[in-house]
Parts: sequence; structure tokens; C-alpha cells
Amino acid sequence: MFSYRHAFHAGNHADVLKHLTLIATLKHLMHKDPGIQFVDTHAGAGLYRLDGDYAEKSGEAADGILKLLATKDLAKIPALQDYLDMVAGFNSGGSTRIYPGSPFIMHRLLRYEARDRLKLFEMHPTDHKSLTGNIEQLNAGRTVSVTRADGFESLKALLPPPVSTSGSRRTCVLIDPSYEIKNDYYRVIDCIQDSLKRFATGTYIVWYPIIPRPEAHDLPRKLKTMCTQLKKPWLHATLAIGRATGGDDTGLSASGMFLINPPYTLKPLLNEALPIVAKALARGPGQSWAVESGG
Ligand code: SAM
Repeated sequence: MFSYRHAFHAGNHADVLKHLTLIATLKHLMHKDPGIQFVDTHAGAGLYRLDGDYAEKSGEAADGILKLLATKDLAKIPALQDYLDMVAGFNSGGSTRIYPGSPFIMHRLLRYEARDRLKLFEMHPTDHKSLTGNIEQLNAGRTVSVTRADGFESLKALLPPPVSTSGSRRTCVLIDPSYEIKNDYYRVIDCIQDSLKRFATGTYIVWYPIIPRPEAHDLPRKLKTMCTQLKKPWLHATLAIGRATGGDDTGLSASGMFLINPPYTLKPLLNEALPIVAKALARGPGQSWAVESGG
């Protein structure tokens, strides 16, 4: 079950889509004063070396963040710039050796004065150990917690979120499984359904791979149907980098993000950023991007 290690994939095109969307969403949520609870149900190790064994073996960042950074005359548009600034903030001396995973991206955006909280869950023993060690360096105290537990199950106890000092309840949840087992697709649907019952106004962010598998194809369709029935706003963004002509091309080439209760600012930001990202990361035929919304 536990063969997936995010270190092989850190900074790839799927991380670019996921983290660009995550940052744009969080930045909007931070505009409001009350404190917010962030949850990362599948956190990974938190920080990744792009010059380490795992990343060098897979070379996936070369088709993702490193390719984006190497693109000449990249248009300076807000969501893209925020993402690139975030990655640059973990590196110095002009080279990109460290890639921040979602826990560190979320932590960077936390407001200690607003008493934002970050709850991280990771099941893999090695990644949990790395994550714990990485988070300890932050001396974040009670602001950040790391638990070795099932993220889907653990989320239940966190919803509804606690009342903030200003009397409101707010949460934003990233659900980013590895989909190693096909049950993950069903668990995502159940998790969203249950979470909306517990806390209907939370912002829920789901990443999923676009692969030729019925469960992957059905996931956004089922989420859309659920949102329509529950009258919940949703946003669906996809990025495909196309197939390389020649060479080994068996890896993931497309992925999607599905958000429930997304910020209203997200659609225009992604509509501006994704065509530039898709063009910069294009490998060959099949390159595309799309943003749709409803509710
Ligand atoms: N969210 C991370 C990021 O963006 O940097 C990447 C996470 S990676 C795609 C998925 C992680 O979920 C893996 O590290 C895997 O070990 C972990 N995992 C798998 N099943 C889990 C579960 N039921 N609960 C918590 N973590 C799980």
C-alpha cells in the first residue's frame, strides 16, 4: 500500500497546478480577519530536495517547476508570481534546490496574530518522520500539529472547526491522496459528502490525477453532481502537459483540482495563469488547460 513517495514527484506539473491554486486560494482567505483552521489530510514530507536521490532519479521537477523557472519572458501575472515567489522563498543564491510541499506552503501563509492553525496528517512512517523533523525546525508550537493517522478519518473530528476569537468558524481543507489504491477515489467522495454535512461553508480542495481509469474520470463528475444537488459553488481546473514525442513517456501528464466553496477571485486568477503555465510546460500533443465553475 505504501509504495508512493512524493519525493519522486515533488515540483512536477501536478504540483505546479496544485500549489499555484492552493496559494491563490489561501491568499484570498487571509484577506478576512478571523483566524482559520487549515487541514492537510495527506501532507507528505513537507520539504523536498530537488538535487536529492529521489528527485534526480525521476527528474519530474524538470518538466515542472524547473521548466517554468527556465522559461524566458514569463509573463508576470499575480497568481503565477505568488507561486514562484513562494518557491524562491525556500531557496537562495539563484538556484532552486528545495521544493516546498503543501505543509510548508500553508505554514508560510499562516497568520500567527490571527491564531490560524494548521493540522497535518501523514500515514507513511518515513514521510511522517521527515515531516515531524521538518516542522520541528519551525518552532511553531501549537500553531502546527503533525499526526501519523488516516487523514480522511481524522478530518471528521476537526469539523466543524473551533470558534475563532472573533466568534466565527472557518476552515480550508486540502485533500491530496496518492490514489495508489482505487479506494482513494471513493474515499474522497465520501469524505467531501461527510465534511459538507459537518461544515457546509468550508473550502475543500481536492487534487486528482487525470489517467485512463474510470474512477479518475468519474471523480470530478461525481463531485460536480454532489455540489449541484447541495447547491454549493464549485471550481474545476485542469492542466495537461501533453505527450512527449519519443523517449520514455509513461508518467502522469495531466491532473485536476476540484474546489468546493472556492474564493470568487480564483477563476479569473487561474484563467490568467494557466494558459501561460500550459504553454511553458508543454511537452507535445495533448497540452491543454481548462477552468470551469458552477453553483
Ligand atoms: N500534499 C502533499 C504536497 O502537496 O506537498 C503531497 C502529498 S502526496 C500526493 C500523498 C501523501 O499521502 C503521501 O505522502 C502518502 O504517504 C500519504 N497517505 C496515503 N494514504 C494516506 C492516508 N489515508 N492518510 C494520510 N496520509 C496518507
